Amino acid sequence: MRVLIAGFQHETNTFAPSKTGYDDFVRGGAFPALTRGADLLVMRDINIPVGGFIGAMRDAELVPVLWAGATPAAHVTQDAFERIAQEITAAADGRIDAIYLDLHGAMVCEHLDDGEGELLGRLRRAVGPRVPIVASLDLHANVTHKMLTEADALVAYRTYPHVDMAETGDRAAFLLRKILQRGNALYRASRQMPFLIPLNGMCTLMEPASAIYQAMAASEGKQGVSLSFAMGFPAADFPECGPMVWGYGDGESVEREVGAIADQVIAREADWAIPLLAPEEAVRKAMAIAATASRPVVIADTQDNPGGGGDSDTTGMLRALLACGAQDAALGLMVDPAAAAAAHAAGVGAQITIGLGGHSGVAGDAPFEATYRVEQLSDGVCQYGGPMMHGKWSGVGPSARLSLGGVQIVVSTHKDQMLDRNLYRMAGVEPERMKILVNKSSVHFRADFQHIAEAVLVAKAPGPLLADPADYPWTRLRKGLRLRPLGPAFSG
Ligand SMILES: [Zn+2]
Repeated sequence: MRVLIAGFQHETNTFAPSKTGYDDFVRGGAFPALTRGADLLVMRDINIPVGGFIGAMRDAELVPVLWAGATPAAHVTQDAFERIAQEITAAADGRIDAIYLDLHGAMVCEHLDDGEGELLGRLRRAVGPRVPIVASLDLHANVTHKMLTEADALVAYRTYPHVDMAETGDRAAFLLRKILQRGNALYRASRQMPFLIPLNGMCTLMEPASAIYQAMAASEGKQGVSLSFAMGFPAADFPECGPMVWGYGDGESVEREVGAIADQVIAREADWAIPLLAPEEAVRKAMAIAATASRPVVIADTQDNPGGGGDSDTTGMLRALLACGAQDAALGLMVDPAAAAAAHAAGVGAQITIGLGGHSGVAGDAPFEATYRVEQLSDGVCQYGGPMMHGKWSGVGPSARLSLGGVQIVVSTHKDQMLDRNLYRMAGVEPERMKILVNKSSVHFRADFQHIAEAVLVAKAPGPLLADPADYPWTRLRKGLRLRPLGPAFSG
């Protein structure tokens, strides 16, 4: 059996400042760099879906084509989509028995709304109706009807932070085997949810998400169905943005089980929203808790999360820390290539007067002009030690630790989400010894920080990834979709 494998991942924030070009996929950023051919098989050792799929399909002849993923940002350019999609589609010839795709499921392109649906459709036309096509998806997929129709099976992560990426590839392999053994397609049922879920409320370490995924696993164990719940990426302005529950199995049971999970998601509507604090409110609260705590308080600077389209350079939380006189605080990563270069040119111990960060042009944000002390220089290379993508090497380019008042700032040249404590340590910050940590991340950081944190707060400093989806200037959603749990409906 010859199985074509390919990956094409993008989570598109259509409101973000920068588009996603071909070179962004070549570099990869938070993802591995663009990989072709047999080199893809090395991904077996990384916690990403294609790794799990490769591991589970050792008995098949794998035809690795290409794996490309780019850090979330605005629309994928037509050039990038067409070059990558054509390379994958060209490999889907008459000798292929099955196809596996490692997709995110929230790709919006300059010229199309539904990148994954388009790719799946092109592959379907290339191989015909009898060759099974399965794909794994991110938990933040905006699942479209075209995606569901063109694929034989789609299966999404069940954890946020995403610690089950490889496991999801393994589950895609299980579904593919099931389809091949039966010799025909599985019955599919799906239900679109009537409201957008804020990213910070999606964490599966908390209610209600943890209960929903537990119920799904229990239902699968008893009913022999396969269920998925993708909570969506609520920053993509197109009609099919939003959460979806779907599953595969035999007609009656899968309709019933998908319906039961969908009903639970809707019944808990109010519980999907969590408190969002103004910057200084978050810092004051953190200082009050930290005064008597032996562990740091972590504040998520969620609206500048580079994992959701932020440039990781806004200064709202830095201003709030300084205004409140916070001590023993650290913030990371602040992406500013010029500041990193200035620190390296000046050397450790020097004072540099610069406008730090604030270069991405976010409304209400600006560079923070001050004289900073260069505390430490770094090459920006570290290996993740936390549960997400454990062992992955990160290279954020020339980096430095700057200090101002009681705040240590980890400045880097390239973006990476602050989801691993080693991103602090590479610049000399010991996270456990700090009173306050401000992480440019929404939820992923919890995997490696929650257990060392006295408390986790979520702040709303100016940034492109709005924590409350109702704050976006939506223009193209479907009518009637509620913009947040129990919130106003989109009226067109
Ligand atoms: Zn995700």
